[in-house]
Amino acid sequence: MKKDITTEILEEWLNNVRPYAYDGQVANYIPALSRQDPENLAVAIHYIDGDSVEAGETEAMFTLQSISKVLSLALALMDNGEDYVFERVGMEPTGDPFHSIYRLERTPSKPLNPMINAGALAVTHMIHGDTPDEKVGRLLSFIHELTDDHSIRYNEEVASNEFETAFLNRSLLFYMKQHRIVTGSVEETLDAYTKQCAIELNVCQLARIGALLANEGRDIASGRRIIPKHLARICKTFMVTCGMYDASGSFAIKVGIPAKSGVSGSVLASLNGFGGIAVYGPSLDDKGNSVVGLKLLELLSNRYDLSIF
Ligand code: GLN
Repeated sequence: MKKDITTEILEEWLNNVRPYAYDGQVANYIPALSRQDPENLAVAIHYIDGDSVEAGETEAMFTLQSISKVLSLALALMDNGEDYVFERVGMEPTGDPFHSIYRLERTPSKPLNPMINAGALAVTHMIHGDTPDEKVGRLLSFIHELTDDHSIRYNEEVASNEFETAFLNRSLLFYMKQHRIVTGSVEETLDAYTKQCAIELNVCQLARIGALLANEGRDIASGRRIIPKHLARICKTFMVTCGMYDASGSFAIKVGIPAKSGVSGSVLASLNGFGGIAVYGPSLDDKGNSVVGLKLLELLSNRYDLSIF
């Protein structure tokens, strides 16, 4: 299978799915994201044996947005342990949009899982660090280890743009503060969260993270353990049950690969025994998932029988 997936094949598939770029819309609720070009498409595969193949605009940098929720969860679990984290954030899918508030009104009023905004905000709050910059600095250092690339930063314009307009996320935080899921300054937690979401990567760097997760948390090149195996498994399980927001069920049926999407139009997929796949295509469907990303992953999964089910 691996030999078959050449750059030419990936280019051809990208061209096949290109027309779908106009079936959706680029995110516009964060002003800086609305300037992304819907035709800017890229895909990368990083195999578990270290080989890689990529096609399209592989140099294009995009912000992680909700994909960062997987990485902040891994770090918060490493910082605090499972018991602490899951006392405050649940493990169940919601079937609601990612920024929905209404489940917080139910008892107990903790967020249902760490892949929705409420849960992710609570998780960011748990990352060790006295200030937002210390938390984000630790998350960036962690991502430097995951990618073996110390040049990765967050995009300041995207971060401040979201910070200024994140009224729903502020509401989620105030609600959780009332119920003592989070403590301290709402503005500081939001500051850390919006910077976390604005961390910028390209598809090759992201695919390498997928490969590390598929490799039970060990770096592909050095074999060094970066994430404990059981925590990598928890992250991948959340990717299956909640990774594609309220489209996680249909994605599991159509594609069947653990994956997490972000509103920048990027998708991170991780398949045990295979490696990591990253796709970028900024045009989103009504659930906030990359239209082209979904199509491409569906093609790949069906053609090479990659579903875990
Ligand atoms: N930063 C975005 C937000 O909180 C991330 C959402 C997403 O990618 N679904 O709204």
